[in-house]
Amino acid sequence: MKQCPTCGVLHADEQAVCPCGTDLTHVPPMLSAPVPPPPPAGLGVPPAAPPFIGRPLASEWVPLAPKEYTWADILTVLGFSAAVAGYFWAGVLLLPLGLIASLIGFCGNNRRGLAVAGIVVAAIGVVLKIMMMLNEANLLPYWFTDGIFFS
Ligand SMILES: [Zn+2]
Repeated sequence: MKQCPTCGVLHADEQAVCPCGTDLTHVPPMLSAPVPPPPPAGLGVPPAAPPFIGRPLASEWVPLAPKEYTWADILTVLGFSAAVAGYFWAGVLLLPLGLIASLIGFCGNNRRGLAVAGIVVAAIGVVLKIMMMLNEANLLPYWFTDGIFFS
């Protein structure tokens, strides 16, 4: 086990790069689990639990740390929300905005899944909206807009 010198997150010995971007290859492994801070003095305070020896699931708790949230994460949430809202209201405005915000959010570290969902939802919405606009303007040929069985 070794600790990132930048953000303090614990990693397995074989972990080479911290999610915060710090190179961990030159960080020496720790000999034992980190010592938790002593509890505040007072009557009736139970003794501290023994330190956790097992391998920490760093990849699971890094996204939960509030300090890891970035503008990319905010844009991801906003982009996904805008993409979904664009299906019901002001799609010409919200769908491209949602697509752009989701693409920016995808470049961030966290919430990649939500960013991908926002990109897919927004992209499908943009295509559908463009098709509807072209269809309304009679810019699409009949063989494109018609199905197979009905015309
Ligand atoms: Zn780190």
